[in-house]
Amino acid sequence: MNTHGIPRSAAAVSRFALLLLLTAAIHPACAPEETAGGAAKGTSKVFLIGIDAGDWYLLDPLIEQGRLPHIKKLIDNGTRSLLMTILPTSSPIIWNSIATGKTMDKHGITNFARMVDGEYQPYTSNLVRARTLWDLLNEEGVKTNVVGWWTTWPAQALDGKMVSSYVSLTQRGWKGSVVTDIPNQTYPVALFDEITPLIKKAKEELPGRIERIFGEVGENELNEATRSNFEDTKWCLLSDEIFHQAALYVQGKYPAPFFAVYLGGIDVLGHRFWKYMEPWASVEYVVTEEERKQFGKCILNYYELVDGFVGDFMALADEDTTFILVSDHGMKAYPPSSNPYIADRSGAHDNAEAGIILLSGKNIEKNRRLKRPPNIYDIAPTILYLMGHPVDEAMDGRVLMNAIVEEFEAGRPVQMKRYADKPQSEEGFIQSEGDAELIERLRALGYLK
Ligand SMILES: [Zn+2]
Repeated sequence: MNTHGIPRSAAAVSRFALLLLLTAAIHPACAPEETAGGAAKGTSKVFLIGIDAGDWYLLDPLIEQGRLPHIKKLIDNGTRSLLMTILPTSSPIIWNSIATGKTMDKHGITNFARMVDGEYQPYTSNLVRARTLWDLLNEEGVKTNVVGWWTTWPAQALDGKMVSSYVSLTQRGWKGSVVTDIPNQTYPVALFDEITPLIKKAKEELPGRIERIFGEVGENELNEATRSNFEDTKWCLLSDEIFHQAALYVQGKYPAPFFAVYLGGIDVLGHRFWKYMEPWASVEYVVTEEERKQFGKCILNYYELVDGFVGDFMALADEDTTFILVSDHGMKAYPPSSNPYIADRSGAHDNAEAGIILLSGKNIEKNRRLKRPPNIYDIAPTILYLMGHPVDEAMDGRVLMNAIVEEFEAGRPVQMKRYADKPQSEEGFIQSEGDAELIERLRALGYLK
């Protein structure tokens, strides 16, 4: 392991201190039209909740059954739509497009890892070439809290707090988490000590959570493939619970007008357990009645869990907050893959199945469905506009005016601005202990050739 992360991070901190001084000089903190934290009067604070693979196909029946009361409340107070996505539906690409409002050729994250001199290197945060929403909002004087977002390790210096997403195999998968013994997972670094008790608590509560999602799973009753499917999924329950706890802590203790959190579990469960939920969806599925009973409801149970998380975040919001729930793509039943490494997967998103978007709050049209679905690039411009800031000219999306109430739009034309480019990192990726294992796993899964 090398320690490039540490000196780099120190340099980033000092650059950031300079930026803060400059920002303070340009924007007097107490301009009359501004409230503390930088939100202009009448504009929204924004809570952005990323739900990987969230899909109306499963959400709607659950809402009808009254099982997602918090999301239902947001829908009643908001505007919903399908969200168009891109190919490949690879998490690092799309979540960076959502955060930057830009295509992958602009933000530079085109896969889980890149090839340099014949070797794969996982993408690290310094390799995201475009500035994110939190970068731009900080420049505009707005504090930002970010938890669990893709390609945020090592945690960057920002005006606010960050809990990064470290992708490693210790969690037996290819979504990020918080793991022990890896440096720079939070900004500021000392925040890690504050969330350490939450990680411990999440670990202690894991068995109960597993039972809530899967029911009681006996020791020896599963065949080998199903057993490993189940065992390999536990990490994602833990990962989401840690992000949920950390997000509640950070936004509760250090509230910021912009707050973003990412949850990956619905995607992971969907890939692995779809065939138990819809055994009729492919003649190639082999599912016993017992397996169907044991695992047929876990994906839906997980949506219910996520609705509870959303409710917890709602409790931190005030009447000026706009909630934006988004997924990077949807999911549906697929026959077993011909790729032997992922032959077991049954839910997938190989054809850019549409995701979801739900905006909700006082500045959003109530109980509305958009006829023309927006796309993943529209989220960042819409957030900048709702928060009262100019949209980056270089973004590839547009502000979702159809979702915003007329009273808000009146006298507020969309302002455009050419935000400065991100200074490009001259260093390569930042190495860490889990790299070799990660690359091997991604290759095995067919994500890398
Ligand atoms: Zn997926």
